[in-house]
Amino acid sequence: MDTSFPRQPGQESVTGPACCCPATPVVRVVMPPTPTRPHPTDLLLCGHHYRVSRQKLAALNATVQKLPGVSGNAVALFEDEPSSPAPVS
Ligand SMILES: [Zn+2]
Repeated sequence: MDTSFPRQPGQESVTGPACCCPATPVVRVVMPPTPTRPHPTDLLLCGHHYRVSRQKLAALNATVQKLPGVSGNAVALFEDEPSSPAPVS
């Protein structure tokens, strides 16, 4: 596991709280445009709120990206996806 986090252009670091609550965000959710909202919207969600709203987000065709630098405990949130096989590393 590489412990350094090289900054890449265009990839902003996440320093603020999540959009849902003051917790540290673990995922970036991109909501697709809707008839009432013509532009995609980014949301930063903590592990708890991502987990409780995951099915709703999937139903809305939201794109979920795991944020860089997320700790192993938060990564475990993604381990129970039935459709994703174990990563080969
Ligand atoms: Zn939250």
